[in-house]
Amino acid sequence: MDRQAKAVVCREWGKPVQIEQITVEGPRRGEITIKVAACGVCHSDLSATTGKIQYPPPLVLGHEAAGVVVEVGEGVEGFSEGDHVVSSFISMCGKCRQCVRGHPVLCENARKAMFTLPDGTVRTRDSQGEPLNVFGACGVMAEYATLHVDNCVKVAEDVPLQNAALVGCAVMTGVGAVFNTAGLEPGSRAAVFGIGGVGLNAVQGCATAGAEMIVAVDNNPKKLAMAREFGATHTIDLNEVDDAAKAIRKLTGGVDYAFECVGAGAVVEQAYKSLGRGGTAVVVGVADPKDKTSITTLTLPADERTLKGSWLGSARPQHDFPRLLGLYRAGKLKLDELITQTYSIGEAVQAFDDMISGKNARGVIVFD
Ligand code: NAD
Ligand code: ZN
Repeated sequence: MDRQAKAVVCREWGKPVQIEQITVEGPRRGEITIKVAACGVCHSDLSATTGKIQYPPPLVLGHEAAGVVVEVGEGVEGFSEGDHVVSSFISMCGKCRQCVRGHPVLCENARKAMFTLPDGTVRTRDSQGEPLNVFGACGVMAEYATLHVDNCVKVAEDVPLQNAALVGCAVMTGVGAVFNTAGLEPGSRAAVFGIGGVGLNAVQGCATAGAEMIVAVDNNPKKLAMAREFGATHTIDLNEVDDAAKAIRKLTGGVDYAFECVGAGAVVEQAYKSLGRGGTAVVVGVADPKDKTSITTLTLPADERTLKGSWLGSARPQHDFPRLLGLYRAGKLKLDELITQTYSIGEAVQAFDDMISGKNARGVIVFD
């Protein structure tokens, strides 16, 4: 059935988000409709409003949500009304070569589901009846959303939905970059550049995985204080230090792992330069498509360094989302502390402004 929903929409790059009344169609084959409980505001949503991430507007934002299933389409197995679900902005078909080899974030069919559902159509229409694209095949910054089950992970019902929501992006991306992409060894030395919702989770991923030293780098002192609470052993304030890489090498002798959680070639260079011999730099931030980075080629072979990327923390969502929630339940991951502010959907513009000014660890829009 069709449902009316308030949604946060990007109409035009460079303009503030709008709150619109939209129609969300019920599920077709293989899809479910969710009543969204909470949706985190990620820098990637902001990047979609500036054109840094080039999903065509009009676009319903949101890809970090949890909610309750209210309608199940034909042919859906494993989801029932009342189930708790976390959205996944990677669509995982489960059948292609990448899915079968255990890399669903590289699913060969996922490229079809960037700003529409995997079949290339959408279930969202504006008040004029015109179709609205959906961020990451999700578009979950809305009271209701219809998703393909390949973008949904069923989770246990004992975790508050606003906490579970964060596992859909910030936590999975940050912690997963450490656990999955880097495979950080206990006793390692690490640096994290950019302490937003994602970087803060890279910090706590390093702490949980048993890193010896964790150096947090940001230009916002408030973020560095948060990093300490999440396990950073050292901090570098870019207002006080010109060359962060040099400072990190002096402090640590060169780190084994550096995580770039900003999305800028210049910061990737810093992350790479902060490495010791045999070190790995992991690029998590999403840069402008034209952005470039440069490294000294010889250091790749001579120091056996690695430069690699990480998409949604190299997640296997069906395995990793419940795994991260299990660590939260066991007191080994902080989720409550990540949510420094909740907003009603009417306050969405404020939520985006607060991200720009760096006020929050994570701001979360909570629906009635
Ligand atoms: P955020 O806005 O919450 O945090 C960004 C942080 O970087 C802020 O604390 C800011 O002060 C800091 N910063 C800015 N410039 C800096 C610099 N030059 N050096 C060091 N720190 C700097 O953003 P977020 O939601 O944490 O997202 C971070 C990045 O990760 C974005 O590019 C986002 O698009 C990307 N992202 C990637 C994935 C993925 O799958 N790879 C998933 C989600 C988000
Ligand atoms: Zn995100």
